[in-house]
Amino acid sequence: MNKSLASISEQVDFDKIRDDFPILKQEVNGHRLAYLDNGASSQMPVQVADRIDHYHRYEHSNVHRGIHTLSQRATDAYEETRGKIQTFINARLKDEIIYTTGTTDSINLVANSYGGQHLGKGDEIILTEMEHHANIVPWQMIAEKTGAVIKVVPVDDSGDLDMEAYKSMLSGKTKIVSVIHISNALGTINPVKEITELAHEVDAAVLIDGAQSAPHEVIDVQELDCDFYVFSAHKMCGPTGFGILYGKKEYLDNMPPYRGGGDMIDKVSFEETTYNVAPFKFEAGTPPIAAGIGLGTAVNYLSSIGMDAIADREHALVEYLVERLKTVPGLRLIGESEHRASVASFVFDHIHASDMGTLLDKRGIAVRTGHHCAQPIMRRFNVPATTRASLSFYNTEEDIDQLIDGIKYVKTFFE
Ligand SMILES: *Cc1c(COP(=O)(O)O)cnc(C)c1O
Repeated sequence: MNKSLASISEQVDFDKIRDDFPILKQEVNGHRLAYLDNGASSQMPVQVADRIDHYHRYEHSNVHRGIHTLSQRATDAYEETRGKIQTFINARLKDEIIYTTGTTDSINLVANSYGGQHLGKGDEIILTEMEHHANIVPWQMIAEKTGAVIKVVPVDDSGDLDMEAYKSMLSGKTKIVSVIHISNALGTINPVKEITELAHEVDAAVLIDGAQSAPHEVIDVQELDCDFYVFSAHKMCGPTGFGILYGKKEYLDNMPPYRGGGDMIDKVSFEETTYNVAPFKFEAGTPPIAAGIGLGTAVNYLSSIGMDAIADREHALVEYLVERLKTVPGLRLIGESEHRASVASFVFDHIHASDMGTLLDKRGIAVRTGHHCAQPIMRRFNVPATTRASLSFYNTEEDIDQLIDGIKYVKTFFE
């Protein structure tokens, strides 16, 4: 049973938290802004923006190997994020946290490095029908190179994985299972702990795409026991251009580097080059330093509210959202899993999603329309596109009411 919004607000003052997001307080097209596109990118609180600004004004310098004070300051601040992420997802070791440019980059790293090393002809990679393109295309590319084969777990009418089909796909040929934790298109929360356990029975490695779960749920990678877990800063109150790859140390230590360059080496000569250890082995070149520092502040910010409180509030909000959407005549929800987080997708038979999105924008309502980088699951539900409302903890019942009124207003154009 979800807690009510009122009881959660007694514990955490979410109205006050909205003050940290001046972007939400503006009018758009003459209306109050209802920002419901958090699944694509969330907003940044002033604490994070100020921290990034402070870095640029007073700390900027290149990280690592710098002997001067500014470089050490920048390095300390940048490296501090690693420990914050370790705590945030409960990794066993700080060195298990690899900096990347985002979820997409993290998956490409694992596909090329781990996949390139472990996949051979006829080996199998298991994905699901609801994956984001970022968790499909890198695997297709490495499958083509190695001769591996991709198997796809089907999704049922309510938007849940067919776990029996998954079990029957697992075999000695399965080398990698790569699965989305929370669907960005349907909102389904997948049973990733069980998926991981089953994969480990056949000695397959497991990657969890946490782009939609790290911002919304308490994550404990040791409890999940996944081998890799990936996410993006910009979906969790941080900046764009930065992300994380968590990997178990025993995996990372044995994986070859993915990109070559500065920082990732031990010794370089034209005869032979040896590599640095993880995490640095995977972090070639000058990184997005300010963004990395910003992510550290973002997870501090989220933790200061409490991921428990955030998850409780968002579960109550999404329940309210779905309840209200169901009252709109002609609206069909795409994805009706009982295990849902922060996202609701819907269609109308006679209104194209892009018209819906354009007209809602005129009323100050920001939603996303289209295939949500998940064309296979759109095909599965026989729709070219949906309108998706995706929530964050700073959203309110008022945002949802504004959306429902907006949808009813758009409908009048098509009747
Ligand atoms: C957004 C998203 C991605 C891609 O993240 P980038 O930040 O664009 O790299 C991958 N998977 C899921 C589930 C997403 O929501």
